[in-house]
Amino acid sequence: MSKRIVCVACPIGCEIDVQVAENGELKISGNRCKRGYEYAKDEVTDPKRVLTMSVKVEDGEIELVSVKTDGVIPKKLIPQAIEFLKTLKISAPVNAGDVLVEDLLGTGVKVVATRTVPKRYHSKLEIQA
Ligand code: SF4
Repeated sequence: MSKRIVCVACPIGCEIDVQVAENGELKISGNRCKRGYEYAKDEVTDPKRVLTMSVKVEDGEIELVSVKTDGVIPKKLIPQAIEFLKTLKISAPVNAGDVLVEDLLGTGVKVVATRTVPKRYHSKLEIQA
């Protein structure tokens, strides 16, 4: 099997060829540096991604806050991570940069809010009702 990958580890964007032999040995070419080698190896053997999505906010001015992981997680864990984050409810206020999850699915990666959601203002009429 062979695969051509564009390295996204830096803005140069080298095109890297990865050939996987029957015994699983990798032959990697086209990378200009070790980082690209590791990136290409991971893409073929254990791809990883930063996850971005939205999480529910209770009592906020808006109902959702955008979040992202502070590092990459294995691509195979992304469906599970999405299901977990769908069940999460954060109480307003939320500030950009707040850590909402310390360790996502045991990966050691944090989930961080990427915007601020102030607490919803309740008018006196609402409070009396
Ligand atoms: S292989 Fe190295 S130089 Fe090329 S894009 Fe990747 S990190 Fe940048």
